[in-house]
Amino acid sequence: MSKIPADRDFYLATAEEIRAGRTTDVYFRRTMDILKKVGKDREPVAAEVTTGGLPNGWPWGIFCGLEEVVHLLQGKAVSLWSVPEGSLFSPRTARGIPVPLLSLEGPYGEWAIYETPLLGLVCQASGIATKAARIRKIAGRKEVFSFGVRRMHPSIAPLIERAVFLGGLDGITTPLGAEILGVPAVGTMPHSLTILLGGPREAFLALQKHLEKRVPRIALVDTYYDEKTEALIATETIPDLAGVRLDTPSSRRGNLAAIVREVRWELDLRGHRDAKIYVSGAIDEKSIPSLLAAGVDGFGIGTSLSNAPTIDFALDIVELRGKPVAKRGKFGGRKELLRCPEDGTFEVDTRTCPRCGGAMAPGHVQYLDRGATASPLPSPAAVRSRVLQELERVSSAT
Ligand SMILES: [Zn+2]
Repeated sequence: MSKIPADRDFYLATAEEIRAGRTTDVYFRRTMDILKKVGKDREPVAAEVTTGGLPNGWPWGIFCGLEEVVHLLQGKAVSLWSVPEGSLFSPRTARGIPVPLLSLEGPYGEWAIYETPLLGLVCQASGIATKAARIRKIAGRKEVFSFGVRRMHPSIAPLIERAVFLGGLDGITTPLGAEILGVPAVGTMPHSLTILLGGPREAFLALQKHLEKRVPRIALVDTYYDEKTEALIATETIPDLAGVRLDTPSSRRGNLAAIVREVRWELDLRGHRDAKIYVSGAIDEKSIPSLLAAGVDGFGIGTSLSNAPTIDFALDIVELRGKPVAKRGKFGGRKELLRCPEDGTFEVDTRTCPRCGGAMAPGHVQYLDRGATASPLPSPAAVRSRVLQELERVSSAT
């Protein structure tokens, strides 16, 4: 029996353990042992990543996690082509062929034990990025911040924050995420500040006096009293009030949109027309439209983002020694992915866009050539811009 290392205080795999294939499903290792014994471990194969469908009947997804896949396979004798990170895709082309979002080519033994981590990297990140992009689409130009890190294991906080930022959201909350993404972390006060200082007036006065000057003053106004009461205390104690946040508990919620309208009225009445109203707490796609109509300026969204359904991608061998192969239910042979630059339509082995009749362009970018960098990876800001551009192509989240 193997010993649990004494230094494993947290249950997370290190980068070294992932690179060593220790998070693979063991059947890949056993397969490699067998293939080596019969001298077939270096067979040249091509494989493709596709999905049969998206969670909850979503019509489109955002492909995310590619940068980590490139890092995983760098230095292996593997060539990798993929749609760029942040691409908006449908599971199938207009002709009903599964879209090969990512293609690998190389000796099977070079990447066999990485199938498990490769899929994990793109499945989870794409699920979160897609959810973020859907919320971005529904919330229009209003601000949306990610509050969901606390619902997941802290070791994946950077993954969550990168995926939501790439998906088009405006802000994340952890110092580590901020450092990795090159954006400021957002947030001012939790309920505990009001509790520790004895009430909202004391908390807001301290916030006004001691919070770093460059951070906009946003007061959390639902700790002890009615949202309107605490919002008025905020206007009395914070001269340059940037906004208020309603995190109204579910037991008091009633009609949150009506509460927002009332708070808006009272803030305006007292000359705080510029003070924004933010809402947080169990916000999801369905609750956003009525809150927008009530005048909400921004949203803090937590669990529904970080707990977004994972996208069920699969990696399948489609070519062996240059000959098309495929298991039942899959389309064999390497496919040339093409995309219409005008409307974003994906198709395989077809030069003319089935939707607009225009000329198709290459859909894949080669990122690795036998393990060496073939194209540079874009910055998080550039991927986010791509997502926002792609979202212009779709009329809604549904
Ligand atoms: Zn077209």
